[in-house]
Amino acid sequence: GSAVAGTLFFASGIFATVAARRIMTILAQKTFLFELRDRRRVAELAKANDRLVLLARTDPLTGISNRRWMTETLEHLWGSDKRCLAGAAMLMCDIDNFKKLNDHLGHAEGDRCLVKVATILKENVRRDRDHVARYGGEEFLVLLPGVNEEEAAAVAERMRKSVEAAALPNPGSRVSRWVTLSIGVAVQTAEAISPEQLQQRADAALYLAKQTGRNRVLLHRPELSARKHIRPGSLGA
Ligand code: GH3
Ligand code: MG
Ligand code: MG
Repeated sequence: GSAVAGTLFFASGIFATVAARRIMTILAQKTFLFELRDRRRVAELAKANDRLVLLARTDPLTGISNRRWMTETLEHLWGSDKRCLAGAAMLMCDIDNFKKLNDHLGHAEGDRCLVKVATILKENVRRDRDHVARYGGEEFLVLLPGVNEEEAAAVAERMRKSVEAAALPNPGSRVSRWVTLSIGVAVQTAEAISPEQLQQRADAALYLAKQTGRNRVLLHRPELSARKHIRPGSLGA
């Protein structure tokens, strides 16, 4: 009787050990699977988050950066001490008589024109350094880090010429049969100014470009407190 009891006792001990090991293995496998699932979820969330960030920075019509992204870029470039030591040029571009294009050819054609102009502007900048954003309606802001006045004016003139050469119709325009662009240029060199001040100068130059006939590039020169007017065609590509 005691031999049977002893055997049963050992047998149940072995059974319990085997069962406990099996349970531990199953638990470990489950934990591993849960971890895998969590990692996949985290990766999916990170991917979705990246996509959201990109969407928040992109203009849905043209696919280029939007005003928000440009503001972030300016803040980044100017840094915590609010200075852009390497210098930067800002180009404020505005399509001439764009309302007439919408009126004559319809809003959908106007939209197509915005996409084409955005593409042309992007084609005329350095991919790795420069930034082009749709700032609003038919206005685009271009930021050229580390660029001086002469180079900025040359880029702006190249953009103006490229838009003109694309021969996009604007039958109601008082400037030309084709879509044209006015560009105000401001450059930050030795004098440390804020992005807002730089933008105000580019805006002021654009305003003058509009007033003096449109389809032109106009430079704002802070150090001379004067504005230099560049006639169309006076700057080479
Ligand atoms: P200016 O030469 O003085 O710049 O004249 P403009 O007609 O280009 O400027 P205005 O500010 O009078 O008109 C801008 C027009 O741009 C009015 C608006 O309907 C149009 N617009 C703004 N956003 C969009 C858009 O997303 N798509 C289209 N098709 N038109 C737009
Ligand atoms: Mg405008
Ligand atoms: Mg306009």
